[in-house]
Order: sequence, then structure tokens, then C-alpha cells
Amino acid sequence: MSKKLWYEEGIRFECQGSGKCCTSHGEYGWVFLSKKDIKRFSEYFELSVSEFKKIYCDQSEGVWHLKEKMDDPDCMFLKDNQCSAYEARPTQCRTWPFWPDTMQAKAWKKEVASFCPGVGKGKLYSKKEIEKQVEEAARVDEELFFS
Ligand code: SF4
Repeated sequence: MSKKLWYEEGIRFECQGSGKCCTSHGEYGWVFLSKKDIKRFSEYFELSVSEFKKIYCDQSEGVWHLKEKMDDPDCMFLKDNQCSAYEARPTQCRTWPFWPDTMQAKAWKKEVASFCPGVGKGKLYSKKEIEKQVEEAARVDEELFFS
């Protein structure tokens, strides 16, 4: 018999608008951007891809991410604890809190459940829905860091 996953019965999650995940914390500091994320943002702001990159992005070791000020840990789009570009938010934000790294039981407990007030509230995400989000986040990680 296969071992039951710790999230077999699903997980409740609903964003409570705390803005906590939109503020740098530990290793989850930057808001990384896939090609699709950059295209979505560019269309949202009615800019060309190169204009959007010039105004809003930086690159570290070849990986694009939103610009960040060293003296301000908030994402540049965080306004009054809300995402001011919510419709165009990148995959990293769309798939939170169901990332390959955070879905390890220990990391979930230490990094997510104790930190994010949305955990345990609202919609029950089934195992299948969670895994779909994890796969999407992993696909972007693969594009950004391993291709
Ligand atoms: S893009 Fe929006 S959802 Fe993502 S970190 Fe920034 S403010 Fe938060």
C-alpha cells in the first residue's frame, strides 16, 4: 500500500490580503518572471516587452525578476497590502503557496503555515488541484533555472 501524502485530504487556502508573501522573506525574496509572465505584464501595462523589462525588471545570473529596492522589502506592486497588478501577477504569485519547495511537509510547517494567514482558510484545494499548481510552479522553475 502506498504511503498517504500529508496533503492527501487537500488543504484550505484563501488569500487574506496580508501582503506578507509580497514582502521579501528569506530565500523567497525575489519575484521571478518567466517569459509568459513578462509577456502578460507587458500587455497589462500596454508596453513592449523591452519597455517593460527596462522599467520594471532586473536580471540576476540570467534570470529575470521584478526590480527590488534594497531598503524596501515590499514588491513594487504592493499597494495598501494588495497587489496593484493582481490580474497580471506572475506564476510565482499565482501558484503560492503550492510550490515544489513549500510542499515538503517540514517546509510547509516552518515556512508557510506559521507565516501565511491564508492557510487553513477558505477554499479546499484537492490533492489534484495542489499538484497542478506545484507542476506549474516547477515548470517555471525549470525554465528559469535549468534551461
Ligand atoms: S506581483 Fe503582486 S502578488 Fe506578486 S509579489 Fe508583487 S504585489 Fe504580490
